[in-house]
Amino acid sequence: MFFKTGSHCYIVQAELQASVYDLSENNMLTISSADALMLLELNRGVPVEQVDNINYILLSQLIDKGMGSYYPHNAYIEKVRFGLPPSIRDFAKNRVRISNLYLNINNECNLQCSFCNTDDRVNRMTGCKRYSGLSQDNLMGENDYHEVLQQSYKLGCRSLHIIGGEPLLQWELLSIILAEARQLGYSNIFIYTNLWDVGQVHWEELSCASLVINASSHNQNLTNRMIKNSPDFSIFYENMNKLKKQEFPSILM
Ligand code: SF4
Repeated sequence: MFFKTGSHCYIVQAELQASVYDLSENNMLTISSADALMLLELNRGVPVEQVDNINYILLSQLIDKGMGSYYPHNAYIEKVRFGLPPSIRDFAKNRVRISNLYLNINNECNLQCSFCNTDDRVNRMTGCKRYSGLSQDNLMGENDYHEVLQQSYKLGCRSLHIIGGEPLLQWELLSIILAEARQLGYSNIFIYTNLWDVGQVHWEELSCASLVINASSHNQNLTNRMIKNSPDFSIFYENMNKLKKQEFPSILM
């Protein structure tokens, strides 16, 4: 018979006593140094019957807490690792750099461009694209965006590209991301938009970003041919004029 502590349990020995840390539950069990040696021996694959002074009470306790188990054979238990060990962390700190961060905040769009097929799996490096199987429910939440923005900034990223779908339709989320990015210090923020619906937009909040406008047509005829739901081209034209009046930084693609 064999006994092993769980993959999520680490035994740490100090001078006078020892502890078993359960990383999955954030629990810690203080044990004697002799018990720590016994557990280390068991983890090395020595059968229970061959270990001196076995502490069966402690083994039962570990089983009850989900921190250990008996095995009929010598099982190999790979320890899980939370976070990076210091050697890799130091290596990564000096070498891993992110230059551009792309955040897809909306898979939905107000247009139906004929070349934007949700069934294909083609990835686009920039600009907009609707993907099948993605909905607002399975995109990241506010906290995830916060975390990604922070971590990328720490890795040297200063250029943020916000893509969709149509990001301006998710104004509430977009304004939170913009405020966060501005506060962190992102110096180049681009929002990729078709500029067909600016109803929810607060222009002052948008002023920290540049708009990259995906203009797939320049008149109603072409619009009707390229966009299946034939939106009114004059609306796009009006929105372009609004930008021009405000001297808003924009790039036309
Ligand atoms: S504007 Fe972009 S996301 Fe929307 S349908 Fe056209 S290509 Fe797709």
